Amino acid sequence: MDSALNALQEALLRPELRTGKAYHVADARGLVKLDAMENPYGLPEALRSDWLARLREAPLNRYPDPRPQALLTALARHGGIPESQELMLGNGSDELIQLLILAVAHTGRPVLALEPSFVMYRIIAEHFALPFVSVPLDDDFRLDLSRFLEEMAARQPAIVFIDWPNNPSGQCLPEEDLEAIVAAAPGLVVVDEAYHPFSGLSFAPRLGRYPNLLLLRTLSKEGLAGLRLGYLAGPKAWIEVLDRLRLPYNINILSQLSLDFFLTHAELLAEQAEAICRERERLTEALRELHVQVWPSRANFLLFRLPGRAAAIYEGLRERGVLIRAFTGHPRLSDHLRVSVGTPAENDRFLSALEGLL
Ligand SMILES: *Cc1c(COP(=O)(O)O)cnc(C)c1O
Repeated sequence: MDSALNALQEALLRPELRTGKAYHVADARGLVKLDAMENPYGLPEALRSDWLARLREAPLNRYPDPRPQALLTALARHGGIPESQELMLGNGSDELIQLLILAVAHTGRPVLALEPSFVMYRIIAEHFALPFVSVPLDDDFRLDLSRFLEEMAARQPAIVFIDWPNNPSGQCLPEEDLEAIVAAAPGLVVVDEAYHPFSGLSFAPRLGRYPNLLLLRTLSKEGLAGLRLGYLAGPKAWIEVLDRLRLPYNINILSQLSLDFFLTHAELLAEQAEAICRERERLTEALRELHVQVWPSRANFLLFRLPGRAAAIYEGLRERGVLIRAFTGHPRLSDHLRVSVGTPAENDRFLSALEGLL
């Protein structure tokens, strides 16, 4: 039985599936969770009841609206997407990254991104057996633009993904560099604005000016990670064809109703994002006072460097009840740690645990 099963897997499965690992998620039970860039604030109790009242209407026996146009229009307004552009929803922006790569996989042309950047670009490219090419950022996480443009010209990627701000550095490429990449790219450029609520920057006004520019957003970091909602924005001609690849009912009725509810209470998410940005600045200062090298961030997390001690400090923090993100074994980042900005109390807990370990 076992050897027959093995032989079948060998005959059928993509080789990467047999050797690769699933995306790792750390066990956070009982810990202060500062590892995944979630919004630390829950819903105020009064709003929670209103939300639940809204969900009571959900016709669970029916398929959801496959393309909830009113909701898309409201979301576009919320996200500052120009009216001339179209939107499509994904089950998290991860699903949209998968769908974008699926759309071009037949070309065999590479996926290009920064190194380091969001890991799913590479993982999904590998799922489709596409070459993944990355251009390294320097020790301060800055990009050598001419090197990037050379690499792009030489490798002719079907898609370039730029996370803007970059995960894990928290920094944004200069706008003019990003624009130069869009203008010179031989394929699609997807500007991934997952941290848009905290960055104060957006490429949305440029949508429609370039035939190859698409924008990716998510509601995960803004406060709704549990709903799994992302969206892709861009010219109608792109969204229309990409929408053919989307599974018709990818966004369930509970997510649709919840999104509609939160869009009518968007001021709550905006206030929370402001509080997170204030805490980000306080946390940056506090780390500097501890003589920790920390990079300025435009996102809801901070990357900092503890040469030779990152793994031990990560473990020490976990023993003290605080979970952050380590990059153990990573060729570039093994001296670095990433902490998501939490509530003031969570951040204090992190800081005092860290201070005790330094
Ligand atoms: C977290 C993150 C995402 C994934 O968002 P989901 O919508 O939760 O799938 C996408 N891009 C970047 C750069 C991220 O950091």
